[in-house]
Amino acid sequence: MKHVFKQLQQTIAGDLSVEDTDLDYYSTDGGVFEITPSAIVFPKDANDVSTVVKTVDIAHQNGNDRISLTARGNGTDQGGGPLNTGIIVDFMRYMDQILEIGDGYAVVQPGCLYGRLQKELKKTGQYIPSYPASVEVCTIGGAVANNSAGEKTVKYGATRKYVEAIQVVLADGTVTWLHALDNHELKEKMNLPGLEGKIYRDMEKIITDHHKTIHTDHPHVTKESSGYALWHIANHNQFNLSQVVIGSQGTLCFVTAIRLRTIPTPDPNKVDLLVSFYDSIEQAGLAAQDLHRLEPSALEIVDSNLINLVNREKPELLKGLIPGDRIPAIVLLCEFDDQTDSIRENKIKKARSIVDTYAYESEVKRTPAEEAEAWKLRRSAAAVMWTIPGNKKALPIIEDGTVPPHKLPEFIKRAYEIFDKYDLEIAIWGHAGDADLHMQPFMDLSKASDRKKLFQVTDDFYNMVHDLGGTAAGEHNDSLMRAVYQPLMFGPAMEKLFDEVKHIWDPENMLNPHKKIGVDFNYVKRHLRHEYTIESLARMDREKARSKIDR
Ligand SMILES: Cc1cc2nc3c(=O)[nH]c(=O)nc-3n(C[C@H](O)[C@H](O)[C@H](O)COP(=O)(O)OP(=O)(O)OC[C@H]3O[C@@H](n4cnc5c(N)ncnc54)[C@H](O)[C@@H]3O)c2cc1C
Repeated sequence: MKHVFKQLQQTIAGDLSVEDTDLDYYSTDGGVFEITPSAIVFPKDANDVSTVVKTVDIAHQNGNDRISLTARGNGTDQGGGPLNTGIIVDFMRYMDQILEIGDGYAVVQPGCLYGRLQKELKKTGQYIPSYPASVEVCTIGGAVANNSAGEKTVKYGATRKYVEAIQVVLADGTVTWLHALDNHELKEKMNLPGLEGKIYRDMEKIITDHHKTIHTDHPHVTKESSGYALWHIANHNQFNLSQVVIGSQGTLCFVTAIRLRTIPTPDPNKVDLLVSFYDSIEQAGLAAQDLHRLEPSALEIVDSNLINLVNREKPELLKGLIPGDRIPAIVLLCEFDDQTDSIRENKIKKARSIVDTYAYESEVKRTPAEEAEAWKLRRSAAAVMWTIPGNKKALPIIEDGTVPPHKLPEFIKRAYEIFDKYDLEIAIWGHAGDADLHMQPFMDLSKASDRKKLFQVTDDFYNMVHDLGGTAAGEHNDSLMRAVYQPLMFGPAMEKLFDEVKHIWDPENMLNPHKKIGVDFNYVKRHLRHEYTIESLARMDREKARSKIDR
């Protein structure tokens, strides 16, 4: 291994580190797992990435030590996605440039902070609406690799909808762009020699031979970052392999540049927010379904547990935001950003009549200042979840389950049953429109009993999500823990295809192994951390981390 590191130090323009402080930092991400790497590489460009891949590939072929290669953005993944034992390839140090911003598009390197790009886009009146809550601290590359999503996804879709093309480095070191191809272009690609041509030939065969499995054997949710998205490759007579790379967590190739589609930023004065308060989960569920049909730009949910938690820890945050003195079972925040006044007015009118049927109270907020105040109801999760003193921490272990939208009430009720069964303190918030709920139980990872309980809770939870026809990951991807449940969610036929896809792209299993595909539960258990704190997240201090992430 040392021989390979030495060779890389001499051949790449970037840096390589085996310093203990670096190995220690790169051994964790925003989740509950820990895996110590052997070296960190900081490439200067796609050629450097290609050199790293070729050097390690040759070492494998010569029968030397197997060294895994794992991409990393800013390490905010909540499931261990950027952790591994071999070489971590860090894209933030050098490959963080915004290469071009044009009318309706931006071209960036993967290590660019998402928030930085949004800031630059804002100057031109544009943005990318699929941004995650971690927008200020995550990279574009990480968001593409995870197919990240957020509160605007209910109307605007997830990251994959905004990727026009990606430059990748394949497992043999080939640097190429992936984008939508017509039939003629596809044939040309299939005739290429080497790994690139083989990938096109084999992927085309999979798509043709398994059409039925690909389009039926997956959870029918409105938001999905789990699995390899085979169902997005062939559309409208176009064949687009970038779609299977989006959300593949660096298990198929490295992403070294991205061309993104951007859209005009809505005028904040032409955005309205309807906040509604419910006594029962069922009533809120019915309202959410009807509101969803009006195509809101956000439809978010907060439960009574979160409100009680905030009231206990930071009562000043919710001052004046809850009408009367009763604590609602559920609060929904429904936003409309339609820029034509009459359309937005009409939607607000219809939305009001929906909530009048189900809610005990509702209010429309019309100005950016009023709206910002009301959004505190939803954003308060970030302010309290990580601040509660003591050894019990809010753990991201079941934080992204997503079910078909009409199952939202059942999802919440069955989650409550699991928390009762294990006597866990828990709060629920998230994306009601897509029935993608965030929940992080408070547990103490230094206690053997909680460590044992953790896997019982996750097992009950993911089986329940499956039972409701859902997916383990609406936006946070499979990483380690959720990968274990991926075969359950997709079934054996699709899982076989996923195995084939991995083998086609990465025949030596060199790229981010033990993620997404073929993940063994014992491997997951072995890598559970003994403590979990947010301080280590993205090398930020606790205050900064909290203030930068709207959760
Ligand atoms: C508090 C908090 C809130 C969050 N909120 C959201 C949310 O609202 N929505 C959401 O979707 N996610 C959310 N996340 C999860 C995470 O922030 C996002 O998935 C984010 O996009 C990851 O970006 P990153 O730069 O940190 O990537 P990393 O964590 O570094 O990597 C993520 C994955 O992408 C791979 N990868 C990174 N760069 C490349 C590359 N160049 N080529 C190939 N593969 C690559 C890594 O190997 C890894 O598997 C949240 C996380 C936290 C801690």
